[in-house]
Amino acid sequence: MGAGLSGIDAGHHLRKFCPNKTYVILEQRERIGGTWDLFRYPGVRSDSDMLTMGYSFRPWTSLTAISPGDQIRDYITATAREEGIDRNIRFRHQIKRASWSSSDARWTVEALRETAGGQNEPVTLTSNFLFSCAGYYRYSSGYLPEFPNSAQFRGRLVHPQAWPEDLDYSGKRVIIIGSGATAVTLLPAMARTAGHVTMLQRSPTYVISAPEQDRIANGLRRILPAMWAYRLSRWKNVGFMTFFYQFAQRFPKAAKKGLLKKVREQLGADFDVDTHFTPRYRPWEQRMCLVPDGDLFEAIKSERASVVTDQIETFTEKGILLKSGKELEADIIVTATGLVMQALGGIELAVDGQHVDPAQTLAYKSIMLSGVPNLASVFGYINASWTLKADLICNYVCRLLNTMDRKGMRQVTPINRGETAVAPFVQKFTPGYIERALANWPKQGSKAPWRVYQNYIRDTILLKWSSVDDGTLEFSNPPQAASDQPALELAEAAR
Ligand SMILES: Cc1cc2nc3c(=O)[nH]c(=O)nc-3n(C[C@H](O)[C@H](O)[C@H](O)COP(=O)(O)OP(=O)(O)OC[C@H]3O[C@@H](n4cnc5c(N)ncnc54)[C@H](O)[C@@H]3O)c2cc1C
Repeated sequence: MGAGLSGIDAGHHLRKFCPNKTYVILEQRERIGGTWDLFRYPGVRSDSDMLTMGYSFRPWTSLTAISPGDQIRDYITATAREEGIDRNIRFRHQIKRASWSSSDARWTVEALRETAGGQNEPVTLTSNFLFSCAGYYRYSSGYLPEFPNSAQFRGRLVHPQAWPEDLDYSGKRVIIIGSGATAVTLLPAMARTAGHVTMLQRSPTYVISAPEQDRIANGLRRILPAMWAYRLSRWKNVGFMTFFYQFAQRFPKAAKKGLLKKVREQLGADFDVDTHFTPRYRPWEQRMCLVPDGDLFEAIKSERASVVTDQIETFTEKGILLKSGKELEADIIVTATGLVMQALGGIELAVDGQHVDPAQTLAYKSIMLSGVPNLASVFGYINASWTLKADLICNYVCRLLNTMDRKGMRQVTPINRGETAVAPFVQKFTPGYIERALANWPKQGSKAPWRVYQNYIRDTILLKWSSVDDGTLEFSNPPQAASDQPALELAEAAR
C-alpha cells in the first residue's frame, strides 16, 4: 500500500531478496513520490540530510545534502523506473478495507479505483501478505484548528498541504501561522519576493542551521567510487545524529545551551532569542527544525521577515488580532498548522470477521500488530531520517517472507503472551499532531520485541541481524491449506 519513498523501497527489497514473489503496489494518487509529490509549497525540502534520507542501495549524488522536494521526488521516481518497480504500481487505487481469513491464509483487499471519467469503482484483490507503506498522515487534508472568525478575513487563507498553484505572493504581506519545519521553510522562501513575511507562533521550536552542502561527503565523492563515498558519509551522519540525540537525552541543559548559543551567534546580541527561539521543552521532545545555511536567520536579519510570539485572539477582516492587543495585517495567511496523523493509510482492518482496532494492539518490533497475521507497516524515525528505518523494515519483511517459505508456513502472527501496553507508539515526543493522534495508534509494551526504538544501531541489530523466529512469532498453516499452493500469490478476484 503506497508508492512513496517506502513503497518503492519495498519494491526494491522484494525484487532483490524475494525474487520468486509477485507483488503489486496500490497507490491512491496518480504519481509516485507520496509526500514529495503532494507538498508543493515554496521552498519545500528535506529537513534531514539526504545521505541518510536516501536509500541504502542507491547513492544520493546531488551536491546538496539538504535537498529541494522535487529532487527527492525525481530520485524516488528514477529508482522505481530503473528497477521496473513502476510496472507493478496501480495508480488511483485507494485501499479502504483489508480482511484476513485464517482458513485461507489470505487477505481480501477492497479498494476504490478512480476511472478516467472520475468515477470510483470497487476493486477486490487477494494477497498472502499486506505491507503498508502508506506514511503516517491523512492525504485528503491537513490539520486546521478552528480559528475564531476566520471567515471574516478578506485575504487568502492557504494550507501548505494544498498549495494553490496560482498563488502570487510577490509584494504581498504574508502571515505564516506555525513554528515547525514547514513554517521555517516557507519563511525564507516567501520572503524573497513577498512584501513582508511574519511567522506567528504560539511558542518557539529549536532551530539549527546546517550547511546545505556536506563538504566531507562531496570531498569523498571526488576520490572514491560513488557507493563507497555514500556509505561512508551515511555512517558519518548516522554516527553524528546518534551522538547528538543521545547527548541531548542525557544532558538536556547543556544541549539547550549549545543550541541557543548558535542561534544568538546567527541573529546578533540585540535579537530577543529568549522570546522567539527558546522552546519550553527539552531538545528532541519535538523534531528539531534544520535550516540550510541559516536561511531563516538571514531572512529575519534582512528585515524582509519577522517572528511574533503571541496568541491569536481572533481573525479580523484585515488579518489577526493577537491576545497582546496587537493586530497583524495581511493579504495572505498561511496555516502551517500541521498534519492529521493516520495509521495504516486509514483503512479498516478485520481478522476472521472481527474488526481490529489498532489502538488495542501492541506493536511488534514497531512493524507488525499483536494478533494480526501477515501484516507489516513502515513508520520511520522521529529523530533521524525516515529512510533509515524504512530500509531496515523492508529488509526485515523479506527475511520474514523467506523464513515462512523455509518453514512451509503461510501464516505468521505476533502473539502477545502477557505483555501489557505501557506507552504510546511514540514516546517522549510531544508535537501537537502526534499527541492528537496517538490514542488511535498501536501501543508499546515494556520490553523487546514490543518496544519501538528510535535508535538505528539498535534496530539494525534487532531487525537485520537477530533471528526472525524469536518465539513471539507464531508460524502456522490454515487447517485446510492446499499443499501445492505457492506460499505467496496475488490474484485479482473481482473488479
Ligand atoms: C513536508 C514534509 C517534510 C518531511 N521532511 C522529512 C525529512 O526531511 N526527513 C525525514 O526523514 N522525513 C521527512 N518527512 C516525513 C516523510 O513523510 C518521510 O520522509 C517519507 O516521505 C515517508 O515516506 P512513505 O513512503 O513512508 O510515506 P508517504 O510519503 O506519505 O507516502 C505514502 C503513500 O501511500 C499512499 N497511500 C496512503 N494511504 C493509502 C491508501 N489507503 N490506499 C492507497 N495508497 C495510499 C499515499 O498516497 C502516498 O503516495 C517529511 C514529511 C513532510 C510532510
